[in-house]
Amino acid sequence: MPVETLQSIAAEIRVCEKCELFRTRTHAVPGEGNPFAEIMFIGEGPGFNEDQQGRPFIGAGGQLLTEMLRVIGINREDVFITNVVRSRPPGNRDPLPVELAACDEYTVRQIAVLQPKLIVTLGRFSMARFFGPRARISQIHGQTCLWEGITCLAMYHPAAILRNNSPQMRQMYADDFRLIPPLIESLTVPIAPPPPPPTPEEPPTVLDQMRLF
Ligand code: SF4
Repeated sequence: MPVETLQSIAAEIRVCEKCELFRTRTHAVPGEGNPFAEIMFIGEGPGFNEDQQGRPFIGAGGQLLTEMLRVIGINREDVFITNVVRSRPPGNRDPLPVELAACDEYTVRQIAVLQPKLIVTLGRFSMARFFGPRARISQIHGQTCLWEGITCLAMYHPAAILRNNSPQMRQMYADDFRLIPPLIESLTVPIAPPPPPPTPEEPPTVLDQMRLF
């Protein structure tokens, strides 16, 4: 069986017809980024611009995401970005449960290949996937959970911050992003130093020799 890669998953997604969203999309949006990324961002679904170009987070929300990453010294190219649905819901409506369920297989497979240290959920649909359906973004943004041994961090979707457009929300968003570097550091297992070379056996002292008799 061929080894699965992010490219092979992306190729499948581009021609995927597993849910009705394929009928109205222009391009499916598999996700993009560093195949060795430690951090994976998972948003909601493609918007107009993303659908036109087949790339995730390239509109105003994407610009805010890139800006926030810059605040914490991370380049967008260093992370991997995808969505819980990869074809645009018409008119940017919420994805339906059946669509979320159909596309979830790709989320799981991308995570399995990437094996990120940290998954950052952007918005309520992605949050619900990892934190459970009862989670409320206003209450748990900035908090973490463990999913299949991977740490997940809940954050607002950048579009929600743009909609609100208040300095307080922007500040709160930047503060949530500032949680990422220390989290990544705490998740990095330090490489144990090599054990010291064995010390040569000490010759028995005169006292030891006397005890033998
Ligand atoms: S949203 Fe996901 S499952 Fe539905 S057609 Fe697009 S890629 Fe396939």
